[in-house]
Amino acid sequence: MTAVPAFAAPAAGVPLERTTIERRPVGENDVLIEIKYVGICHTDIHHVRDDWGRGGFPLVPGHEIAGVVAEVGPGVTGYQVGDRVGVGCMVDSCRKCENCRNGLEVYCTGGGLVATYADTMRYTDGAPTQGGYSTHIVVDERFVLGIPEGLPLEQAAPLLCAGITTYSPLRHWNAGPGKKVAVIGLGGLGHLGVKFAHALGAEVTVLSQSLRKKDDGLRLGADHYYATSDPKTFEELAGTFDLILNTVSASLDGDAFLSLLRIDGTMVYLGIPEKPVSANVGSLMMGRKSIASSGIGGIPETQEMLDFAAANGIGADVEVISADEIEQAYDRVLRSDVRYRFVIDNSTI
Ligand SMILES: [Zn+2]
Ligand SMILES: [Zn+2]
Repeated sequence: MTAVPAFAAPAAGVPLERTTIERRPVGENDVLIEIKYVGICHTDIHHVRDDWGRGGFPLVPGHEIAGVVAEVGPGVTGYQVGDRVGVGCMVDSCRKCENCRNGLEVYCTGGGLVATYADTMRYTDGAPTQGGYSTHIVVDERFVLGIPEGLPLEQAAPLLCAGITTYSPLRHWNAGPGKKVAVIGLGGLGHLGVKFAHALGAEVTVLSQSLRKKDDGLRLGADHYYATSDPKTFEELAGTFDLILNTVSASLDGDAFLSLLRIDGTMVYLGIPEKPVSANVGSLMMGRKSIASSGIGGIPETQEMLDFAAANGIGADVEVISADEIEQAYDRVLRSDVRYRFVIDNSTI
């Protein structure tokens, strides 16, 4: 065991503080990563405040991890010391079920994925998992991603959660040339959804509450930008989209947004609203439309996403902060006052 510096929430709702945590020794198939940057995801805040009752305190959040390999176990074949690597939302899974065998570890049915923090290594030693607000992490190479040269590590970190969460549904529902894609919400997820949908060749529309970020939206690659607070938007765009990515977790008028889909269109929920999603079946029937959801992506697709991002010059728009600014950053995330992702410089931990 090695003690490493970290920022942890000692209990629910308590500010994070500097501490040390234990990382396991580097095993046969393990990679020791010196973490350079970690993104701040809204999920981190939910866990620190224990909004979902998952516990796990003291808790080190962080599942948008980018760094450099510092040591590898004797059985590691894919990585060498010095390689640029990332870790996202999961660090293990059963590896045996149909979904794991198909590289869809996120949908593991043999006991579920092991989350990067606030979980336990239930398939091995049962130890609690602790996330990326720390200087080092030890992860089995199967759950380590390569970050291509040319993709700055601080811009790559948010791709490991926010990036794959938008890329995977775009690929699954065939966003590409000739397809019209709408992205609801221009935040951490939404800004990457716009970049990926544009790079995949789709015609992209942002649907935001107001036109406040319109210039940004167009700069990021959107072709159109509409305010959902304007009722005329729903008249003008009726029957337009093949795919709508809903990146906001606020409850929406499902019927109103379904009216924007064309035949066989799909609306994909990527945030989790507090209340159940509701819509009239009639809104689905007339146009054979679907409501769907999607969670991050499997490991092979996450690697594909990073390679695609590097090839297309896509990274997250980030504001790099020191670890002492985490509390202020959390407050600003809750006010949607960030363009578009905070990333902690782990050398300040
Ligand atoms: Zn996340
Ligand atoms: Zn599995």
